[in-house]
Amino acid sequence: MDRGLEILDEMVAVLDECGAVLLMLSDEAALNLDELGEVVDVARGEAINAFGAASLLNKHAELSESWTGDLSRPRAIYARHSKAVRNGAARVKPAVPTVRFPMAEEAIEHVLDAHQQSGETSVERPTCSAFAKSKGRRCTKLAAWMGPNEFLPHCYGHLDEDERRQYDERRDRRAEQERLHRAEVVARLYEEGRMVAAEWAERRRQRHDS
Ligand SMILES: [Zn+2]
Repeated sequence: MDRGLEILDEMVAVLDECGAVLLMLSDEAALNLDELGEVVDVARGEAINAFGAASLLNKHAELSESWTGDLSRPRAIYARHSKAVRNGAARVKPAVPTVRFPMAEEAIEHVLDAHQQSGETSVERPTCSAFAKSKGRRCTKLAAWMGPNEFLPHCYGHLDEDERRQYDERRDRRAEQERLHRAEVVARLYEEGRMVAAEWAERRRQRHDS
């Protein structure tokens, strides 16, 4: 790897460490660090952009003419490459840095994604089988959803006592699963944070000893 790319890759890793350490640091310092977290997130995004742009330069991706003689910012490199592609140049994909830890939101998003995928439905959702007396025709509401391709015979309003119990149990089970997933994510973040903090303490000790 080119030296500039290598250092940028390390910068992303350091910002990953900054993100990972925030949760336990918030406890340790007894401070709300949400704003610091936002800034770290922004810096991380910029470092990833810079890494991608540097990789385009490194791969000699074609660029349109620069407007100035100064060095281009990462976004300008992307824009100049896109313009060159529109004019017929081959598209080069920017490289992605090695991620040390997925950041909190990504981890939670991942959990939610996995959760939603397990709930995906492929068959058409049936309608309620109850007869709505007030309207003199069959109820047109959608049947209560129990899981992938699994429905109760009635809409939520028309569930009988037993169906309602099944429905509520299922809902509580899902909520409990979600809570456990989240707790797992938080536990992992704490663990990563403690690991980073130990590394920082060691680095600091070495610097002060030498
Ligand atoms: Zn109904």
